[in-house]
Parts: sequence; C-alpha cells; structure tokens
Amino acid sequence: MWEVVIGLEIHAQLATKSKIFSGASTAYGAEPNTQACAVDLGLPGVLPVLNEEVVRMAAKFGLAINAKVAPRSVFARKNYFYPDLPKGYQISQYELPIVESGQLKIEVDNQEKTIGITRAHLEEDAGKSLHFHGLTGIDLNRAGTPLLEIVSEPDMRSAKEAVAYMKKIHSLVRYLDICDGNMQEGSFRCDANVSIRRKGQAEFGTRTELKNLNSFRFVERAINIEIERQIDVLESGGSVIQETRLYDADKNETRAMRSKEEANDYRYFPDPDLLPLVIEPEFLEQIKQDLPELPDDKKQRFMQEYGLSLYDASILTSNRELADYFEDTVKLSRSEAKLCANWIIGELSSLLNKNNLDISESKVTASQLANMLRRITDNTISGKIAKQVFEALWNGERDVDSIIEKHGWKQVTDTGAIEKLIDEVIAKNPKQLEAYRNGKEKLFGFFVGQVMKLSKGKANPKQVNELLKKKIS
Ligand code: ADP
Ligand code: MG
Repeated sequence: MWEVVIGLEIHAQLATKSKIFSGASTAYGAEPNTQACAVDLGLPGVLPVLNEEVVRMAAKFGLAINAKVAPRSVFARKNYFYPDLPKGYQISQYELPIVESGQLKIEVDNQEKTIGITRAHLEEDAGKSLHFHGLTGIDLNRAGTPLLEIVSEPDMRSAKEAVAYMKKIHSLVRYLDICDGNMQEGSFRCDANVSIRRKGQAEFGTRTELKNLNSFRFVERAINIEIERQIDVLESGGSVIQETRLYDADKNETRAMRSKEEANDYRYFPDPDLLPLVIEPEFLEQIKQDLPELPDDKKQRFMQEYGLSLYDASILTSNRELADYFEDTVKLSRSEAKLCANWIIGELSSLLNKNNLDISESKVTASQLANMLRRITDNTISGKIAKQVFEALWNGERDVDSIIEKHGWKQVTDTGAIEKLIDEVIAKNPKQLEAYRNGKEKLFGFFVGQVMKLSKGKANPKQVNELLKKKIS
C-alpha cells in the first residue's frame, strides 16, 4: 500500500589534528574553550586558512565512491544566528561541492543494491551549548572542526536499507582512515529524510527530517516510528508537514522541532575570505595511488581467494581490523578458511558482542585462535571441546597446548578405547539396541550421543560413528 522513501545526510568528522580553517587542536574532551583560537571564536580581523589534509581526505572519499572530485570547488557562507556560532555564518560548500555523483553498494537480505550519493561537501562544525545550574555556557572547542557532509539520493526503501547504507559509509570512512567513526563523541552522525507515497505513485511524498541520530539502532527505530506516524496522518486524511523532527529514544517517538528552512533563508554566497579550491590532477593521482584496498574489493577477493559466501565475506570485511584478524588466522592456522570464518563470525563475535568489545580489544589474539584451530584440524581436540579451550583463552589462559594438557581435553582416537566405550553403552541399553536392529534407525544418533557422553565429549566423533556402525548393524 505505502512505499517508503529515505535519503540520508551523514556528517563525518574528518580525523585531522587541527581544524579546517585554523591551527587549533581537534582533540576530544578538553576543558571548554581551551581549543578555540581567534578564528574559531569569530573575532574580527582574522582570516581562515584552509587545512590541506581536509582536502586530501575529502578527495580520498570521493575516489572511493567512484564520484567526481571537482577540480574547482567553492566555499560559501551559510548565514544564520545561533549562540554557538559567533561569526553568524557557517563556512560550508553550496553550489560547487568538492565531491559529486558517487555511489555505494549495500546488501540487505543477501541482495545487493546501489545507492546514489548526490554530493559530499566540506564544512566547519559549530560550537556547543552546555546547560548547568539554570545557566547556559558556550563551548567553542568544536567550532571549526572539519566535517564531510555526505548526502545520498532518496534511494532507500526501508529503515533496514538506511541502516545498511549508514554502516557501509561508517565502514568506508574508517577503512580510508579519514574519520574515527566514534558515534558517542559525535564524530559520525546522521539526519534521516523520510517520506511515504502510495505504491505506484510517481512523485515523492512530503518528507520530514529526523535530526542528529547517533546510533545505528536509533536510526532504524526512529525511521520506523516516523513511517508509522506518517501513515497514520495520511490515512486519517491529514497531510505531512515538511519539518525537522527530533527522535526521543526514551519515549520512542518523534517530535516536531522546527519547520524546515529553505535554502534561500540562509543567504548563501561565496566566502570572500577564501579562494576557490583548485585540485590539480597530480594531487589527485597521488591520492589514488595511496588508496588502501576498499571494502568491496576486499569482499570480492575474500569470496574468490577463500571461497567464502557473500554473507561471510560481507561480515568479515565490514571493518579493516576484522578482515586483518581473519587473514592472520587463516595464514597462521593453515586451516580451512571456512573453519576460521565460522569461529570468528560465531564464537568470537558473540563473545565480543556480549562484552561490548571491538575486535581490536579481543581477549583472544588471531595467533591464539590459529593455534587452537590447528588442534582441531590435526584431531587433537574435537570442535566441541574447542569451545571450552576458546573460553579458557578468553578468560586469560594463554597457551592452547597447556590448556588441553591441563584439563585432559585431548581427544580419544585410540580405537580400542573407543570400542570399550561402545561396548559399555550397548550393554547398558539392550532395548534400544533391539529396536534399532528392528529398523528404528533414528536410534543411531542416540548411541552416538551416549558414547560421546561417556567419553565426556572427548571421543573422536568420526571414529565413534564408524565403529558404532560396524558393531550394531
Ligand atoms: P536540504 O538541502 O533541504 O536538506 P536536499 O535536497 O539536499 O535538501 O535533500 C536532503 C536529503 O533529503 C537528501 O539525502 C535527499 O535524498 C533526501 N530527500 C529529498 N527528497 C526526499 C523525499 N521526498 N523523501 C525522502 N528523502 C528525500
Ligand atoms: Mg540538508
């Protein structure tokens, strides 16, 4: 009945040491106003000087999304009044942004889809109002922090697609080392534009803009709740008003914040203090040569080189550290890539999630995991026991072989010993044996289970299967 249309504006803080137009530090968490110089304070008589590193980073992003990196772009003043903006204007780019017409592939439910990126432009961040004891103070440390605003086409059709796109951009800027992606500290945030239209209708519906969503979970929830609200409004005969709305995570609702301003409210004009930004072909060529392997290329390579599925390859290349961890594990373990992938996506990821840790903070190193996988591959331990070995590693024990030794977890592969266990199980279960021999074949699994249990999980399952078959058939 209804089709959802979503476009995202993502603000990625560029990871430079100093600000976009001044030499002040961008380090997070300093005492208020200790990292704001005359330029950031907007004092009269000062002039902005463009930080070259910012240009390099934006160009890198442009190349990575197959966009046009403009040989000439222009900084413009976006005029508005707000206490945290002492100059009375924000320096941004308007008519001629540095990056135009790119695209990015996302996967949702194992389906690939291309999302258009209209533009990405450079701008400076504003300061921050702090409220305390009934007073408000202004911290201008963040003023002048470089931002890359990445504007998508209205190409997404569900909250799930929007989140997949946002995650993809998040992963990309971190691959490129141009943004730390820290959402708690506000280095990566998103405004979601949402509208709905009747299925089959050609023109878009009126959109609302959900401001400053700073987690993937909030983006998904906020969009879904906003879709429901718009459907309610339209189905009860009302109309959606173009406005900016805030998402309240505690109440799980969106609230109107202000009516949408039009571009001409901002009185954009080229900033006379800054020359047009000209990028020479040699400068761009150098950046192209320095680009790291990009996520999509890595994903393709993982599928070809290691025979992984699209799903596994997507997860493992979702960030650079995880991809490195996987490749280290494969190299060191000399085990099958699929086995390595399973352990990293399964056991390791679940422990990381449970403890809210990043792969870089993993308690088990790639070389420890590799040592353990070698012991599975050479039949020293079973996959089941391996889970316990893995847990011991996670809890701080270091050496795989000592863990196996200490706990007596070595797999039983001695044929005679396994046969003895089988005999014992058969002797204890005469009724089941009879039933099995009378055609109840499902009971085979029961016998395997009993033998495994008796061995405390240590018997080699493959041998148990083979020997049992011989004995009871
Ligand atoms: P503004 O400058 O007012 O923010 P833009 O035209 O730059 O507006 O669009 C901002 C974002 O809104 C873009 O990501 C775009 O894809 C998205 N967008 C535009 N129209 C719609 C719509 N009808 N529904 C959903 N998203 C939209
Ligand atoms: Mg906008």
